[in-house]
Amino acid sequence: MVQNRGYGPAVPPEPTVDHEALLRSHGLQVTAQRLAVLRAVSSGSHSTADNIDKIVRADIGAVSRQAVYDALGTLTEKGLVRRIQPAGSSARYEDRVGDNHHHLICRACGETVDVDCAVGYTPCLTAADDLAYEIDEAEVIYWGRCPECVAATSRATTHQEQPPT
Ligand SMILES: [Zn+2]
Ligand SMILES: [Zn+2]
Ligand SMILES: [Zn+2]
Repeated sequence: MVQNRGYGPAVPPEPTVDHEALLRSHGLQVTAQRLAVLRAVSSGSHSTADNIDKIVRADIGAVSRQAVYDALGTLTEKGLVRRIQPAGSSARYEDRVGDNHHHLICRACGETVDVDCAVGYTPCLTAADDLAYEIDEAEVIYWGRCPECVAATSRATTHQEQPPT
């Protein structure tokens, strides 16, 4: 199985969800741009707007960068797409919405993966004192290093720790 990790433009596969129905159910007009942006977001894993723009162009051709960004903005605003903004990095977009899942981000290579809050419930939405706010999301990003980067570092360290001759 070939994994699309969201790097580089690639023509996305046929959608498994009905994007047209999804747009209509959110009161949005169905346009070629919006469909292409939805396809691009769901084909990648936490893609940047730049990457989505490249995928959309590879997919439907003549479309301005502004049109892609506008469509992405509308979809995010309407809740079809979730935008995450890791500190010091470009915003990332995904189509897994409404479940308050969190993210693991590798400091070394930037790989971003989903991690569930907790099975069956979302404890971090229950603030110690919510000050009467109606809370619907807790933004949690776990920063660290992915297994590949840890392995690469430990290989380098092992090498360095060889006794001097
Ligand atoms: Zn990494
Ligand atoms: Zn995610
Ligand atoms: Zn949580």
